[in-house]
Amino acid sequence: MFNPDYLVRPNVKALVPYLCARDEFQGKEGVFLDANENPYGYLNRYPDPYQRDLKIAISKLRKIPAERIFLGNGSDEIIDLTFRIFCNPGIDKALTFSPSYGMYQVSASVNDVQIIKIPLNKDFQIDFEDVSSHLSDKNLKLILICSPNNPTGNSMNRQTVERIISQFQGVVLVDEAYMDFSDKPSLLEKIADYPNLIVMQTFSKAFGLASVRVGVAYTSPEIVAYYNKMKPPYNISTINQKAVLQKLTKFSAYTGQIRKIKKERERLSRELENIPVIQKVYPSDANFVLVKVEDSGKLYNYLVDNGIVVRNRHSVIDNCIRITVGTRAENSKLLYALNNFGK
Ligand SMILES: *Cc1c(COP(=O)(O)O)cnc(C)c1O
Repeated sequence: MFNPDYLVRPNVKALVPYLCARDEFQGKEGVFLDANENPYGYLNRYPDPYQRDLKIAISKLRKIPAERIFLGNGSDEIIDLTFRIFCNPGIDKALTFSPSYGMYQVSASVNDVQIIKIPLNKDFQIDFEDVSSHLSDKNLKLILICSPNNPTGNSMNRQTVERIISQFQGVVLVDEAYMDFSDKPSLLEKIADYPNLIVMQTFSKAFGLASVRVGVAYTSPEIVAYYNKMKPPYNISTINQKAVLQKLTKFSAYTGQIRKIKKERERLSRELENIPVIQKVYPSDANFVLVKVEDSGKLYNYLVDNGIVVRNRHSVIDNCIRITVGTRAENSKLLYALNNFGK
């Protein structure tokens, strides 16, 4: 039976968290003379440290009990906390795949944790055989899987991912930042079956709230308790909590946007196929499309000269460019410029 207590760093287990005024008194009404706040104004009070109202709304949206939800100041905070809870600096290791999201490596380095990077195969999938020999490594504590993967756009084979989760004694974080753009099923429904699984999502992409910095981890209540212990007490501002709550009340507008973006992704992919400068268009379950060209540096500069900014991913995949799906007009402008390349 999985017990996170055996995995967490000893200092984390022993840690006595900061007890803030809002931990001691949780009512909403009263004369508040407990937190040295200024009594005047409308942003004068500290935020709810556990974002209760927001978690109730997210719980309804995803049909996951609120005690299985942790909210971070962006997914980036969740990634960092996960390293800090489970990986002893200079001793433990994490494992991820390449190419994938750059923050895994950065967070590992910040925390002085060695990261094993396993190359994805030619279809950008995980070969289980490449992972299996590492699963018994006693110092391997954390595996990070991005699906749909950034920057390749594909989803990882579900069976392979579940095989890793079920055979690994450590923690597996599956980053589903782009899941709302995918037609494939989320792993959310599996969190009760796999207590070592953390499914991470974000409000930055499909919900259009990148500036608000709210990421979500769905996992076992035991892991949620460790996140709560480790996080800065007021990690999400009241303004940001309200911005997400407001978005969740206008749910139909949000699903309409996602439908539009997915439709544009299909159009963009289709049209890109017919453009001479584009050698290959990779299939995408996300809100971006990866393309291969002959000289990505040259094409990148050409597009910038035409007022269009894409992401040159040559450093991670040879001559590949990642294009975010924009509005219909923006995508048309891009297609027009690409069609005129070299003319
Ligand atoms: C954009 C993105 C995120 C979102 O990060 P936030 O800190 O929540 O904005 C997470 N993971 C991946 C793979 C991403 O591409």
